[in-house]
Amino acid sequence: MSTTAELIRSSTETGVFIPELVYFEPDALLYPKGKKIRDWATAQGLPISMTTSHNRITDLPGDTELAKYRIAKRTLVVGVRKTLKFDTSKPSAEYAIPIATGCMAHCHYCYLQTTLGAKPYIRIYVNTDAIMEAAAGYIAERKPEITRFEAACTSDPVGLEHISGSLAELIEFMADQEYGRLRFVTKFNHVEPLLGLRHNDHTRIRFSVNADYVIKNFEPGTARFHERIEAAGKIAEAGYPLGFIIAPIMWYDGWQDGYYELLEKLSHAMPRSVFRGLSFELIQHRYTKTAKNIILQRYPKTKLDMQEDTRKYKWGRWGQGKYVYPDEQASLLKDFMYTQIAEKFPESTIEYFT
Ligand code: SF4
Repeated sequence: MSTTAELIRSSTETGVFIPELVYFEPDALLYPKGKKIRDWATAQGLPISMTTSHNRITDLPGDTELAKYRIAKRTLVVGVRKTLKFDTSKPSAEYAIPIATGCMAHCHYCYLQTTLGAKPYIRIYVNTDAIMEAAAGYIAERKPEITRFEAACTSDPVGLEHISGSLAELIEFMADQEYGRLRFVTKFNHVEPLLGLRHNDHTRIRFSVNADYVIKNFEPGTARFHERIEAAGKIAEAGYPLGFIIAPIMWYDGWQDGYYELLEKLSHAMPRSVFRGLSFELIQHRYTKTAKNIILQRYPKTKLDMQEDTRKYKWGRWGQGKYVYPDEQASLLKDFMYTQIAEKFPESTIEYFT
């Protein structure tokens, strides 16, 4: 019998994500995108239910909390985004643009573990027009400054694009915004729907990559490294500004070799012509106490290193601090990455290390 991990891998590796259960909030069906998704789900033969609100979904199958968690990650809820006040998204952008929440992958370290807590199902919002109108308002407020919007703060929207089509709408909308820019990051490789779009260089697509050790141990359900790189090549060919996010950067036995190999492989895989304009964002591994507790319940055998006595506590804005690497380790990681990137990608930009 296949394990959950194998099932997840097979549905994302060989094809696109297909949920097991689909719920609609009633208002969602008043929108063309809602109807389109219902038609798609019907054509796939998926069980469809109505729910008055995503908060009311209490009948997910599963005998244990863990089983319910796994099925929730394969449950799609189609609804209307009510809050059109965008969160900030430092350091990568000014605002987070909300088109979806939740993700079908199972990265052990994912911060959605905490932010989505007991409701880890995938939500797609159908009122993209209202979301884009709100974005236009934010752009107008800041012009002539450029306003950047991050579309992957609460989800991996590339993995959902075949269902939602929302990225395509945002990309074409942003192409016409003199002072607006879009960016998103992904660990998936299904970029075909994005390749022929008019983007006007206003959308930067980044691929999240990591050392083999991290991908192998902590990123079940995502596209493999070579698939992400192949997709990055297609995105570069389609003329999009391209970047890589290396996150979370981990300190483990052999990390220098691991990250050296990663950058070496990247530099050989990408055509030289894309090096100029390539961006890197570097994020060291961190976790909160709450995240640690949730992660250990959901992935009890995880090899994630979360020992407080080897970490530095960094106070957070809302009272909830994070455990990061001590300064000395963080500097070693940072120096190593900066040196390697400068050597292998001299024309690229490192946007930040955090
Ligand atoms: Fe989280 Fe991204 Fe992994 Fe999805 S792919 S589980 S959003 S880290």
